Amino acid sequence: MIQTKGYATHDKNAKFVPFEFERRDVGSNDILIDIEYAGICHSDIHTAKNEWEAMMPTMYPVVPGHEIVGRVSQVGDAVTKFSVGDVAGIGCFVDSCRECSPCKDGFEQFCYKGAAYTYSGTYMDRVTPTYGGYSNNYVIDENYALKVKAEGDLAGVAPLMCAGITTYSPLRRFGVGPGQNVGIVGLGGLGHMGVKIAVAMGANVTVFSTSPSKEADAKALGAHHFVVTSDPANLAPLAGTFNFILDTVSADHDVNMYINLLGIRGTMVVVGVPPSPNTVHSFGLIFGNKTLAGSLIGGIPETQEMLDFCADHGITSDVEVIKPDYIETAYDRTIKSDVRYRFVIDMKNA
Ligand code: NAP
Ligand code: ZN
Ligand code: ZN
Repeated sequence: MIQTKGYATHDKNAKFVPFEFERRDVGSNDILIDIEYAGICHSDIHTAKNEWEAMMPTMYPVVPGHEIVGRVSQVGDAVTKFSVGDVAGIGCFVDSCRECSPCKDGFEQFCYKGAAYTYSGTYMDRVTPTYGGYSNNYVIDENYALKVKAEGDLAGVAPLMCAGITTYSPLRRFGVGPGQNVGIVGLGGLGHMGVKIAVAMGANVTVFSTSPSKEADAKALGAHHFVVTSDPANLAPLAGTFNFILDTVSADHDVNMYINLLGIRGTMVVVGVPPSPNTVHSFGLIFGNKTLAGSLIGGIPETQEMLDFCADHGITSDVEVIKPDYIETAYDRTIKSDVRYRFVIDMKNA
């Protein structure tokens, strides 16, 4: 077995503490990744605090982290995609059944048997717990690891593994491109990636934010317009003008005000997972044949496509690199929308 050092929380109110555990030995098809950086996704926070208890209760102790990048330090004898020294990434799942139609079609996140999520879950034996990227290594089947072309600043690459694919996938699925008005709601980890990717796809991008202080950043990220949502008067003139809106907000909020901004046959996709259910008024959808949809991360082929797209367009995440002893403060600041725009834990020196 491989000894691993990580950081875990044992209860929804507990602090993160050092946590040592074992990962499986490197099998024929496995690679061992020495983790360099792990992003802090708001899903880590929802999970550590058990905010999704009703739908997905947290398995404690939990070592979060599903935005992982590092270097391959060992390969199994049947591995073909990776060599020792390569940069590799891990996203939100590390295995699936490989036989059902979603797995065969590249939608492993929807595996009928339940994918093995990177943390707060189990491997496919349904017994062994998975521990995530707030740790110094990970053993993974090569088919569930991502190839990373980028060299240089790997800290900015880590968040692509979740924030990047979660925004790329719906933008691609609904054909966002030149000539379209696209709204991104919430300028956090997901939102700032959504802006960069939608701009690279050629769209005219508007950021909807509760934080007036983020306007200059939004423009620097490439957004064309910035709207402060706390005053409804700012939204009224925009009614019916958007082709596509991506809602990344992590907290309870009213989606109807954004549905109202969609034009005829416009689409709004929710990717944020606030703790409480939303109330949607049917009138807002039926007048205009509008679509309200959801999207969950992306499968391995599309995640690789996103990484290649980002490498080709020079897109990485804007990050604040921290040490593990800052995790709680980073969580508190993220909850207060005080992150520009992703905290990434340096695990090289942890
Ligand atoms: P984040 O970095 O905390 O960003 C969320 C943003 O939402 C904040 O920066 C803030 O932007 C806005 N916001 C926060 N509180 C708000 C409130 N009360 N009202 C209105 N807006 C508010 O979080 P993230 O990591 O991007 O994740 C966002 C959500 O997506 C989380 O719920 C996460 O669990 C979920 N998620 C889903 C998937 C998926 O596959 N569907 C994948 C990853 C994450 P402004 O300051 O600009 O208002
Ligand atoms: Zn995530
Ligand atoms: Zn499957």
